[in-house]
Amino acid sequence: MTESDSAPAHFIRSMIEKDVAANKHNKLVATRFPPEPNGYLHLGHAKSICLNFGIAEEFNGWTNLRFDDTNPDKESEEYMSAIKRDVAWLGFKWKSLCYASDYFDQLYDYARLLVEKGLAYVDSLSADEIREYRGSLTTPGKESPYRNRSPEQSLELLEGMKNGDFNEGEHVLRLKIDMASSNINLRDPAIYRIKKTHHYRTADKWNIYPLYDYTHCLSDAIEGITHSLCTLEFEDHRPLYNWVLEQTQPEGSPEQTEFGPLNLEYTILSKRKLVQLVNSGKVRGWDDPRMPTIAGLRRRGYTPGSIREFCRRIGVTKNDAVIDMLVLENCIRDELNETAERRMAVLEPLKVVITSWPEGTSESLNVANHPQNEALGSRKVQFSRELYIEQSDFAEIPPPKFKRLTPGGEVRLRSGYVIRCDEVVKDENGEIIELRCSHDADTLGQKPQGRKVKGVIHWVNADDSVVAEIRVYDRLFNRPDPLAEEDYMDALNPNSLISFIDARIDRTLARAETGSVYQFERQGYFVVDPDTSPDQAVFNRVVALRDTWAG
Ligand code: ATP
Ligand code: MG
Repeated sequence: MTESDSAPAHFIRSMIEKDVAANKHNKLVATRFPPEPNGYLHLGHAKSICLNFGIAEEFNGWTNLRFDDTNPDKESEEYMSAIKRDVAWLGFKWKSLCYASDYFDQLYDYARLLVEKGLAYVDSLSADEIREYRGSLTTPGKESPYRNRSPEQSLELLEGMKNGDFNEGEHVLRLKIDMASSNINLRDPAIYRIKKTHHYRTADKWNIYPLYDYTHCLSDAIEGITHSLCTLEFEDHRPLYNWVLEQTQPEGSPEQTEFGPLNLEYTILSKRKLVQLVNSGKVRGWDDPRMPTIAGLRRRGYTPGSIREFCRRIGVTKNDAVIDMLVLENCIRDELNETAERRMAVLEPLKVVITSWPEGTSESLNVANHPQNEALGSRKVQFSRELYIEQSDFAEIPPPKFKRLTPGGEVRLRSGYVIRCDEVVKDENGEIIELRCSHDADTLGQKPQGRKVKGVIHWVNADDSVVAEIRVYDRLFNRPDPLAEEDYMDALNPNSLISFIDARIDRTLARAETGSVYQFERQGYFVVDPDTSPDQAVFNRVVALRDTWAG
C-alpha cells in the first residue's frame, strides 16, 4: 500500500485541534456521515467519508452512519445496503447505524413546541404562491396571509396534516423567521410537507415528512454530534441550522462547518444524475466500471487503499476545486505497480509461426512475476512453434520510428527469443492471416549481440493461451465539464467501452479469482470481472501504464 500515514494539515483539523485544546464538547470529536439512500455512493461521498471517519478516529472520537431517509419517494433498501457495504469496504466502522426516521416523533414534538412558541405556523398558500411570495435575491419576500394564524389553529391543522385529513400541497408547516431577510433560507422556510407515501421503515404512520434543514440539525443534536461537516452549498443554510437549535434547545450542541465538495473532470458526482445514467441504460448499472461510484470503482479494480489515498492527496479546502482524473489514476497505478503480478496477454491476436522451431516441441521459460519483488515468485511460460502477438505490433509499411516487427525486420519477444519476420501470409481479400518467422536460438535471455533489435513485444503461446474478453474503458464523458452541456447525456463518450472479445490470455488466468489484478505487460493493469464464467474469463482494464510503449 502506498497510502501515507502522515495526516496532512487542513483547516478542519486545525479547527478541531483548537476545540479539543479549549476543552470544547469535553474534548469529544463526534461526526456523522449522512447519506440520503437514493442512490449509490460516489467519489464525492468517499471524500466526505474519509474526512468524517478519519478525523474522528484521529481524535479518538466516533462517527455515526445516518440515513437521511426523509423522502420516501426515492429511497430504497437496495440503496441502504449498498451504502453500508461501500462504507465498510472503504475501511471504516461506524459507532451507530442511525436513521433520521427514528427521530420522527421527536421532530414532531419540537415542531409543536415551535408552533406553541409562535415560531412556526401552518401556511395554506399553494406551492406557486409560496414561491412568488418568497421574493428574490434582490427583492424582499412578502408575508403570507396565514402567518398570523393563532398557535391553537396551527396546532390543530398540523395534527390534521399528520393524520392525513388533507391532500398533498394543501398546507405546509413553516418557521416564522423573517420574510425580509437577505438570506432566502431564513424567509419562513417550510419544515413539514404533506406526503402520503409509504415509508420503508415507518410504513404508513406519517402523512407528513420533515424537510432536510429542519431534520439535519436536530438529528445531529439528538445523536450528540459535535462537528457537523458538510459541503459548501450548505454555507447559507448555517444560520437556519443554528436558528432551529437555538429555538428548540435540544441536548446536544453540534456546529456546522463547510468544506469544498469534490468535483472530478470528465465525470459527474451526483446521485440524482447518476441514477439517470443507470435508468436510461447508458451504463450497465451502478457498478459499471465507468461509473464514479464506489461500486463501479471496485469493479474497475480500485482498492479501498487507493481511494483513501486519493482523498488524502486531494486534501480538504474551503473552495470548490475540479480535480484532474490523473490524480485518481495515479493512486491506483502507484499501488498496482508494487503489488500486481506481471503476465502477458494479447488483445488483438495475430498468429506467428516460428518456422525454425521444431514441430511438437516446446521450451519452458522461467519468468519472474514482478521485476523488483522477488517474493511474488516466478512462473513457467512455454515457447513453441505457434504464438500470438498484438496486431498493432506488426506493420507491413512501418510508420517512422516504428520499433516493432516489420517484413524482414527483427524484434525481441519479451522473456523469449529474437525473431525475424520472413513472410506475410494473406487471404484472398488481402487480410493478413499469419506471419512466418524464424528465431535466433542464441538470443534467449541475453542482449542480442552484433545487430540492433530495438523493440520488445509481448506474446502468448497458442497452445497455452485461451480466448478471453478484455474490456478497455475510457472516460465516461467526452468533455471535462459534462454539466456545461445543455443535456449532459449528449456529452457521453460513445467509445467509453471497447470490448476485445478475441483476446488471448495465459491459460492459468482463466481460473483467476474475480477481483484479482494483473499487469498485462505493456498494456496496463487488468482485473478479473464478475462476468467471468467457467467458459470464459472477462477482464477490465483498471488503468493503462504510464507509458503505453514502455519496454
Ligand atoms: P447527490 O449526489 O444526489 O446530490 P447528495 O450530494 O445530496 O446527493 P447526500 O446523500 O446528501 O448526497 O450526501 C451525503 C454526504 O456526502 C453529505 O454530507 C454531502 O455533503 C457529502 N457529499 C456529497 N457529494 C459530495 C462531494 N462531491 N464532495 C464531498 N462531499 C460530498
Ligand atoms: Mg447534495
